[in-house]
Amino acid sequence: MLSSQVFDYIVIGGGIAGSTFSTLMGQKGYSVLVIEKDEYPKHKVCGEYVSMESYNFMKGLGVPLDSFDLPRINQFQLSKPTGKAIDLPLELGGFGISRYLMDSELKKASLNTGSQWLKDTVLSFAKDKYLYEVRTKNNIYLTKEVIGAWGKRSLLDNSLERPFYSNEKSRLTNWVGIKYHVKSQLLKKDLISLHTFKNGYCGMSKVENDTFCICYLMRSENLKNRTVRESEELFLYKNPFIKDVFTQSQFVFDQPLAISQISFQNKSKSENQALMLGDAAGLIAPLCGNGMSMAMHSALLASQINNKTQYPIQWKKEFNQRIKLGRFVQYIFGRTFIMSAFIQLAHLFPFIAKWMIRKSHGKPF
Ligand SMILES: Cc1cc2nc3c(=O)[nH]c(=O)nc-3n(C[C@H](O)[C@H](O)[C@H](O)COP(=O)(O)OP(=O)(O)OC[C@H]3O[C@@H](n4cnc5c(N)ncnc54)[C@H](O)[C@@H]3O)c2cc1C
Repeated sequence: MLSSQVFDYIVIGGGIAGSTFSTLMGQKGYSVLVIEKDEYPKHKVCGEYVSMESYNFMKGLGVPLDSFDLPRINQFQLSKPTGKAIDLPLELGGFGISRYLMDSELKKASLNTGSQWLKDTVLSFAKDKYLYEVRTKNNIYLTKEVIGAWGKRSLLDNSLERPFYSNEKSRLTNWVGIKYHVKSQLLKKDLISLHTFKNGYCGMSKVENDTFCICYLMRSENLKNRTVRESEELFLYKNPFIKDVFTQSQFVFDQPLAISQISFQNKSKSENQALMLGDAAGLIAPLCGNGMSMAMHSALLASQINNKTQYPIQWKKEFNQRIKLGRFVQYIFGRTFIMSAFIQLAHLFPFIAKWMIRKSHGKPF
């Protein structure tokens, strides 16, 4: 059935980027429909560390961050696969917040501006002379503009024949992400630690309510013919930091949350003349800890441009350097020998690690 209303914007995906864009355009008085396939609130695989660069911006969207008593994180620890660690201060730092809380608060902020939300899955979108037709599982909607904010991987990427979707050979594809929430006496509230192991790395940091997030990323080959538990014991437990936390903490979820087929390859910044935001435009290596800030920042850029051809240029100007550095670090992380050599080097010359942290982060926007 064809819906009669013509929206100014239809945003596909109501994650960080989609909800931010809809709030910004709702604040300006545009009619916006966000189509999100999942029900919120919901837990998602994510390290849940948000760079301080977006703290004030989020408050400006209407998210009452100060009222949640969120942990401020300003220390960083990086350990070798064998467990030897280096400790560094984080210049800008970040805060911890679960995706359960963050996504639902961003959705509330969007609804408060008058944007509408629909739970449905978008199957395709196409433009005729003036309007886009957006087809979902249940309906067809009309809009003047479409915004693609469907995250790191969606069936839409396949139907649009985006090259990264089918390229499985590169070392930048086929990563698996696993997340737990734990209660632990071993972890500190102002510290984000990154512990490396063969073919992967595991981040640990605090979120709200005395809970810590443990999230790791590893090459899918670690899981070949093994369960998650078996691969943890075989690969992750070689790092004594990880083993201690896994064996001495109380796990909040019965089962881990998992996602697969994560790709860090290049992506186009627009498809069918629709601007791509957040991970749909390019995913930065999670170890940089600012994918969520980039998703919000890309929504801000898209909300400010007058001419659509400017967006890819602005996007590249703002994020290309960070994405490239993240890709490089992602490439060497998980390669046991190179990683050990890097941490040894960082011990001797801490300014190298500090420089990389600074370059992989943005500035407040
Ligand atoms: C393992 C891992 C750890 C990470 N840790 C961190 C971290 O600690 N800090 C950080 O800043 N970043 C981190 N990131 C990156 C961060 O999660 C992303 O950059 C961020 O979620 C991007 O937001 P987004 O809005 O683009 O996508 P998402 O938040 O994923 O939202 C996309 C939405 O689109 C919806 N959708 C998809 N297809 C359709 C469709 N066809 N129709 C309707 N809806 C659809 C999905 O349901 C989803 O809700 C991590 C990423 C990974 C993989």
